[in-house]
This record gives sequence, structure tokens and C-alpha cells, in this order.
Amino acid sequence: MHDLIIVGGGASGFAAGVFALSKELDFRMIYENRGGKSNWRQSLTDQKEPEFLAGAEALMLFERQVEAHRDSTIKDRVTTITKKDRLFEVKTTRHGVLQSTAVIVCTGVTPIKLDVPGADMFLGYGLGYSAITHTALLEDRCVAVIGDTDRALRGVAEISQKARQVYLITPNATNLLSPLGIAVQYRPNVEVFQDCQIRELTGSLSVEGLTVEQHGEVYTFDIDAAFVDLGLRPNSECVRKIVRTDRDGFIWVDDRNATTLPGMFAAGDVTTTFGEQALIAIGEGARAALSAYDYILEHSVH
Ligand SMILES: Cc1cc2nc3c(=O)[nH]c(=O)nc-3n(C[C@H](O)[C@H](O)[C@H](O)COP(=O)(O)OP(=O)(O)OC[C@H]3O[C@@H](n4cnc5c(N)ncnc54)[C@H](O)[C@@H]3O)c2cc1C
Repeated sequence: MHDLIIVGGGASGFAAGVFALSKELDFRMIYENRGGKSNWRQSLTDQKEPEFLAGAEALMLFERQVEAHRDSTIKDRVTTITKKDRLFEVKTTRHGVLQSTAVIVCTGVTPIKLDVPGADMFLGYGLGYSAITHTALLEDRCVAVIGDTDRALRGVAEISQKARQVYLITPNATNLLSPLGIAVQYRPNVEVFQDCQIRELTGSLSVEGLTVEQHGEVYTFDIDAAFVDLGLRPNSECVRKIVRTDRDGFIWVDDRNATTLPGMFAAGDVTTTFGEQALIAIGEGARAALSAYDYILEHSVH
């Protein structure tokens, strides 16, 4: 029986973990992948350029601090979380069921993958899933952005300030009439292709070409990089039945990172809060832990 269980080992989870350490809580962090998405890196060529992730140093420090406390972290998958009487029961794949007074869910999102030949092979070699992160590498390049989500459009707006040419390629066109969608279509170096099916990515060491089909015609674009932004799926399956989520499964939280279930808090990309950024996830994790701490002070049974 613990004070707190933190599910997830990304930016928000480790920020919550450091806060729990500072308050000397009896806590466990359970995660499948240490570091979460802050570990995702990519390059435009086979020579990995240095990349900058704001908050990366802080995150490495948090990881070291938490992991210095043996037994505070468990590498496992959480399958379900339930609340019985006043206790949470967190069921894992290999470590059985753990109990706690409070829980923080920091499980992040999974980007919808591009499922075409070349997509796996070129991941990190000219193909990425976060257009806005890599603008600095795209000076005078020719770039394709696949998708018309808000993130994709923000990526096009940003990249078009540096790149020579940007192709915005969308399977449908649901978002192109948004203010940002209209704004990017006026950029002189942006060309929009709607109703396209992506067929293939080609190249030798990194992405060099993108083949699409539009209304029965097949086109190939010569490109230096491609970014996929088809949407993000929240990793909220383990709590969807017990807390309120939006239509897509993002966990609703209030301004203290409390969910609709007392004692359960959530932070980072998995929540309805705006902004998938490491620094934002760190701040949210800390705030969720502060709220959980208040809850534990009021409800602790030992
Ligand atoms: C390609 C890419 C590039 C990015 N670049 C930047 C950037 O340059 N700057 C920036 O600020 N942000 C960037 N981001 C966003 C940033 O990485 C995220 O906002 C941040 O890492 C989110 O942290 P998180 O803790 O919410 O989730 P995540 O980092 O996704 O961590 C989720 C954690 O939960 C665990 N987990 C999930 N489900 C379960 C389960 N059922 N049981 C146990 N564990 C589970 C995972 O293993 C992982 O440890 C980028 C994102 C991507 C995808």
C-alpha cells in the first residue's frame, strides 16, 4: 500500500516523481519506456545532427534523482486502474496489483502512424512525427507535411519560413478552412494537395521521394524530409471507464490537474490541456503531484 502511484515515465511522470521525492511520499512510478517521447529523436540524413529539446537536461536530472531511490520505479505495463472504497488498485502485467491513496496518470499519446512502404525504414532518416520540432534543420530544403491537423498546419506555417518548398498533403481536408489552414495556403512556397492517398516513401540513406495518388493519378515529389501529423491517440485505455475523457479519449482535467474521479490526477500529453511540449508536461506533472499531495494529506489511511 503506497501514498501515490504515478503511471508513466515521461516528462510529466518524472516531474511528478521528483515532487513526490521532495515530500518524502511513499510512491511508485510504473512505466513501459523510461523517458517517454522525450527520447524520440530524428535526423534529416544518416549523420545525426545535434538536436535541442527544451527541458531535456532537467528531465535527465529528474530521472537520476528518482532512480537513485531503489524500488521507486517499476518497468511494467498498467492494464487497468480501479477504485475500491478509498483505495486505488493499479493492475500491472507482471507485478500484480499495487494499491495507493492517489494516482497520477502520465501516459502520453501515440502518434497515428503512416502505414506505407518506407515509413518504418526512414523513421529518423528524413521522416518524423513532429514537424514543429525540426524547423531549424530545414533551411532551404524541400519538405512534405502529411496531414491537416492543427499540429500539421502549425508545422507548415513554421517550416515555410525556412524551407524552399513545402507540400501540404492531406488524405482529406477537414481542417484547411480553419484560420491557420487558410493562412498557410497563402504562403508563396506552400502547395496544397487534398484527397491524397500516400503510397510510398523512397530514397537511399534518407527520404528522397514521396509517391501519392490523387483522384486516380499517381504523383512523385522530390523531397528532403517528410513529417507525418495525422493525429495523436491518448494512451488512456486503463482509465477510460472511470474518468471523463473527451471524444478522442484525452483525459479531462481541471486547473489543478484533477480528473473527475477524486484522488486521480493526470498530466502531460494524455490530458485535454493545450500544448504537447516537454516543458509544459514537466510543469503539469509537478502541479498534478502538488494536488495529489494535498489529497493524500486529507485522505491517507495510514
Ligand atoms: C517526434 C516528437 C518530437 C518532439 N519534439 C519536441 C521538442 O522538440 N520540444 C518539446 O518541448 N516537445 C517535443 N515533443 C513533445 C514532447 O516530447 C511531449 O510533449 C512530452 O514528452 C510528453 O511527456 P508525457 O510525460 O506527457 O508523455 P510521454 O513522454 O509520452 O511519456 C508517456 C509515458 O507513459 C508510459 N506509458 C504509456 N502507457 C502506459 C501503460 N499503460 N502502462 C505503463 N506505462 C505507460 C510510456 O512508456 C512513457 O514512459 C515531441 C514529441 C514527438 C512525438
